[in-house]
Amino acid sequence: MARYIGPVCRMCRREGEKLFLKGEKCSKSCCPMNNAKRAVAPGQHGTSRKKVSEYGLQLRAKQKAKRIYGVLEAQFRNYFKQADNLTGVTGENLLRLLELRLDNAVYRLGFGRSRTEARQVVRHGLLRVNGKNVNIPSYQVKVGDVIDVKDRAKTAQRFKNILEVTASRVSPDWVSADRDNLRGTITSLPTREQIDTQVHETLIVELYSK
Ligand code: SF4
Repeated sequence: MARYIGPVCRMCRREGEKLFLKGEKCSKSCCPMNNAKRAVAPGQHGTSRKKVSEYGLQLRAKQKAKRIYGVLEAQFRNYFKQADNLTGVTGENLLRLLELRLDNAVYRLGFGRSRTEARQVVRHGLLRVNGKNVNIPSYQVKVGDVIDVKDRAKTAQRFKNILEVTASRVSPDWVSADRDNLRGTITSLPTREQIDTQVHETLIVELYSK
């Protein structure tokens, strides 16, 4: 599946807020969003203030969610279709489907400093789900699934570096992380309250429902 490979911080500048896409750098002073001069939308007209239409707000909400979860347009639209076909609130279903992506679950467990790194960990075949090799970032995890790092990768410097940074990060209640053994379990489906992503999902639903 294709992925965005352009400048990452540009996406935060476009959304006008930190999306925490780069792991450690996001909490350092070198983050462009900490600098008033750089924290403007990219491009020639980045500093000009425009009135945002209702459509503009809906579009921005959708773009923000796509960027946070690292999903491109076609795949995001498919998630929306799936969410719409499920029982319950469509916006909440959408966020739940995104949260249950394997790369996101790995990030939530603290086995990646950012979702991008978690995706890389998955793509590099360093993980197992219920003892089976899975290297598909969009793989949907289920309640009861056990995700663990393969034995050969457990002692790698890479995971030592990752755990150093994620040690202080609290995993949400829908996962249980055993960081010492690089193993985690999906204990329940995430509820909206357990998803800390600052996205107005109702705006996304309105956009796609037109
Ligand atoms: Fe966004 Fe992180 Fe770049 Fe800051 S460092 S602009 S939070 S991706």
